Amino acid sequence: MALISLKHVTKRYKGLQRPALDDVSVDIDRGDFVFLVGASGAGKSTFLSLLLREEIATSGEIHVAGHDLRRLPNRRVPAYRREIGFVFQDYKLLMNKTVRENVAFALEVIGTRRSQIGPQVDRALRDVGLESKADKRPSELSGGEMQRVSIARAYVNQPKIILADEPTGNLDPTTSVGIMRVLNAINLTGTTIVMATHNEEIVNSMSKRVLELNGGRLVRDEANGRYDSAR
Ligand code: ADP
Ligand code: ADP
Repeated sequence: MALISLKHVTKRYKGLQRPALDDVSVDIDRGDFVFLVGASGAGKSTFLSLLLREEIATSGEIHVAGHDLRRLPNRRVPAYRREIGFVFQDYKLLMNKTVRENVAFALEVIGTRRSQIGPQVDRALRDVGLESKADKRPSELSGGEMQRVSIARAYVNQPKIILADEPTGNLDPTTSVGIMRVLNAINLTGTTIVMATHNEEIVNSMSKRVLELNGGRLVRDEANGRYDSAR
């Protein structure tokens, strides 16, 4: 089975006339890099929330890394989420901790052995090009650097999947290109990446698979796709 598999997935929120996701079926394989595009309200965040098991599908089946998310008991959700890294548009860093401590914290909360935390954090910071900033606090960093910290934190325990919701949404074009280089390098190590974005330039420059949502429906699934919101 594909690493991520949705079959006829519909998600209705209470009080909403139309479903936020409407009969979506799609397979994403190990090692894929997928852009999830579509206008605001199209269902991109709902798609990611379902994969993270923050929301539960109203109907349909979702399998992620061998787990049937309908059957995953709540007590297993924390362990399940450790298999997934998440990158936010607004970084969500702990402002009173250093870069190193922010990344280490992700390992501490999952009970990683103390002797392993240092080496794993150093490697993740090296991979995102931030080893020289390890002892700075987020307030001393640029937006692009903060997003690199957030990527290092998502990646430090080598998850199978990284989900990213508008990771370049607060960054200028040049900085965004740098962030995409980092995500691409992580993808090349075999990590599957699903990235929701509005950023047409980035989608068009990367030539990856594109899934487009419109009003909750999957309207396009294209290898080496483009994104032209005006069409
Ligand atoms: P996108 O990320 O593409 O902007 P969303 O998944 O956030 O789309 O939203 C899809 C639809 O679901 C929108 O109509 C939105 O208002 C609605 N929605 C999203 N989250 C919730 C929620 N927690 N409760 C109710 N409605 C929601
Ligand atoms: P290649 O020729 O290099 O194997 P493909 O054209 O098979 O490339 O796929 C390119 C990317 O699109 C891969 O990441 C692949 O997993 C993904 N993909 C898989 N299924 C589909 C599909 N139905 N539509 C679009 N892209 C797909």
